[in-house]
Amino acid sequence: MAAITANPLLSVKNLIACPECDLLLRITDLRPGEQALCPRCRCQLARPHKHSIEACLGLSIAGLIVSIPAYTLPLLGMKLLGKSHSGLLWSGVAGLFQEGLWALAIVVFLASMAFPITHLLLTFFYQRPFTP
Ligand SMILES: [Zn+2]
Repeated sequence: MAAITANPLLSVKNLIACPECDLLLRITDLRPGEQALCPRCRCQLARPHKHSIEACLGLSIAGLIVSIPAYTLPLLGMKLLGKSHSGLLWSGVAGLFQEGLWALAIVVFLASMAFPITHLLLTFFYQRPFTP
């Protein structure tokens, strides 16, 4: 019984098409500092960056740190006729709900609070370098 082995020349694994000239190329692992160029049109196909995971992790930590005062400190303060009023980001969403603008409140909540913090948390947990 003969075993079927895939011909590595016919495999589509690790094949990419040049975005400029559609030449099919096989990319091997690149080290930091190297770049993959298309031999036909010299288009840059890949270029790994040094410490890209660490930079992404650092930026996500910084984003999480600065999001704490953004959600807890007042964004707007007004003084009018002796009365002062300050508003948090959350109080704006609650005010929209109280006014009956629940659809707009949901959009504001998602766009200003839920999506940014979710993005930062996902970036933090999925970009973290693996340590056994
Ligand atoms: Zn090309």
